[in-house]
Amino acid sequence: MKIPLFDLKEQYRQIQGELQEAIFEVMASGHFILGEEVSELENKIAQYLNVNYAIGVASGSDALLLSLMVIDIGPGDEVITTPYTFFATVGAISRLGAEPVFVDIDPLTYNINPYLIEEKITTKTKAIIPVHLFGQCVQMAPILEIAKKYNLTVIEDAAQSIGARYKDRMAGSMGDLGCFSFFPSKNLGCMGDGGMVVTNNKELAEKIKILRVHGSKPKYYHPLIGLNSRLDTIQAAILLVKFKYLDEWNKKRRQRAEFYNSALSDGFLRIPYISEDNFSVYNQYVIRTKYRNELREYLKSKDIGSTVYYPLPLHLQECFQDLGYRRGDMPEAEAAARETLALPIYPEISEGMQQYVVETIREFLKSEVVSLS
Ligand SMILES: *Cc1c(COP(=O)(O)O)cnc(C)c1O
Repeated sequence: MKIPLFDLKEQYRQIQGELQEAIFEVMASGHFILGEEVSELENKIAQYLNVNYAIGVASGSDALLLSLMVIDIGPGDEVITTPYTFFATVGAISRLGAEPVFVDIDPLTYNINPYLIEEKITTKTKAIIPVHLFGQCVQMAPILEIAKKYNLTVIEDAAQSIGARYKDRMAGSMGDLGCFSFFPSKNLGCMGDGGMVVTNNKELAEKIKILRVHGSKPKYYHPLIGLNSRLDTIQAAILLVKFKYLDEWNKKRRQRAEFYNSALSDGFLRIPYISEDNFSVYNQYVIRTKYRNELREYLKSKDIGSTVYYPLPLHLQECFQDLGYRRGDMPEAEAAARETLALPIYPEISEGMQQYVVETIREFLKSEVVSLS
């Protein structure tokens, strides 16, 4: 049996008719840029997250960039974030000439450790970007408290966590700004690139709407220097179809995770830790073992997809050498990079497929680990 890490074909098969109809409608309308589907989606997402404003943009990366631009982040500013995330989180900070300041992760959740943030705050610190990794929210209470105390803006990177909750609040709705990605592999994915910024702040929302169209308002008059970053109407139409299924798909992801949880607990392998206050939507199902590389090879030999998020923490990336970090500076992120492995998870994966993954891992633990340890 061949089991991919992720697969969209079955999902497409299930809602093909609806999707095609939505796409054809946009094609016939001729309104491809900021058509009415975009505002319809913005309204639906704002309502879903219980926030006042949502602004469709070209990608999750641009959502982060625009969120930093709208609060005037630039040279001389510091932005605190995690080294254990997708590159885009930190790329946005650096592209604006600001300095990313890394804070190590909590070894259980892999999210930024809120208790290590305060010691990194300086007079230059302007914002914190907590990243809700793998579908689980960061412990936001202490972060919001610190932000208030030091007057910092909180920009949530919720690209992997649409529908996740911390206490009773939705991922992306807790800080000043929330960023989402509709990259195809996210829990709500389009058929290309797409993203969204959400906020309760009217001024920020209006400014982002201006920034996403080259900083112009009215057209051809530019109070700001913006960029071209809009969510395509066709992508919004696709997302409106898929959005109806989001909660159901997230529920299925949680069930698939539960299946792995009960089958995989073992002394040599750690299943995901979801903290009490959290409702995870499992964008990824990430296990941890000292025998990660060996397990990955073994799974590969059995045609089972798996991958490492992320093999090299960002403080050690070549492009950030100038920041002056060294190996050992972020010990928990570095250990996680050595030991974590993401297993196949998506709403359409069958129990039979999961069973095969589980049996293969057990086989590995029985035969290989004994000989390795
Ligand atoms: C996917 C992702 C992004 C970037 O989103 P794109 O839409 O691919 O630009 C940013 N941050 C995190 C944590 C992500 O997983």
